[in-house]
Amino acid sequence: MITTGTAKSWMENFKELILENKDELTTLDQAIGDGDHGINMARGVQEMDKMLQEKTFETPGALLKAAAMVFISKIGGASGPLYGSALMKIAAEAGDKAELTDQDLLACLDAGKKAVQQRGRAETGEKTMYDVWDPVVSTFRGEETIDWEALKTTAQQAVKSTVDMHAKKGRAAYLGARSVGHTDPGAFSSRLFFEALADAAQK
Ligand code: ADP
Ligand code: MG
Ligand code: MG
Repeated sequence: MITTGTAKSWMENFKELILENKDELTTLDQAIGDGDHGINMARGVQEMDKMLQEKTFETPGALLKAAAMVFISKIGGASGPLYGSALMKIAAEAGDKAELTDQDLLACLDAGKKAVQQRGRAETGEKTMYDVWDPVVSTFRGEETIDWEALKTTAQQAVKSTVDMHAKKGRAAYLGARSVGHTDPGAFSSRLFFEALADAAQK
């Protein structure tokens, strides 16, 4: 069951994981992008955390909508609008429910996945964060309860699957075939997003 408290822990865990992995995200983006993914994400989660400490929310949807606004307004680059749109759609799907069941949450994540796909015009196998969102959501959609350890494993494997992909979207696409052999930075941060959720939900 996802309460407002769980949603807050999710976002706080995401902040912690992004800050712990900031240098790794930068290194990955140096290889196939412009080297700012760690910086972009760290700025976003820090601004989001500040906002979360200042405000209180009645529902998970309200909290996640406020988080979405921070990503949209404070993070530059491709990743800000993508995470922002995903969180916005997750929040919209959550509506004004005080608690979300696993099934509700899966419907929310599915809406988030579709937002990434639409906003990025991303398709499967193009070496973007969508290559984590899609398998994670598709694997568990329709299940009554979420096996969180399996979800984390799915996300990890999805990140690994981006290594062999040839980038077709975002800055990495400029490298063409030279993008092969590297992990997509946004896929890596998306794994952290789902790991943060799993850790919050399992508490
Ligand atoms: P920028 O590329 O503008 O510097 P970031 O470095 O913060 O932005 O984010 C890069 C990540 O954004 C990529 O690793 C990829 O996962 C994701 N991304 C970029 N373009 C797209 C897109 N069109 N669709 C989905 N994800 C994308
Ligand atoms: Mg970048
Ligand atoms: Mg950039």
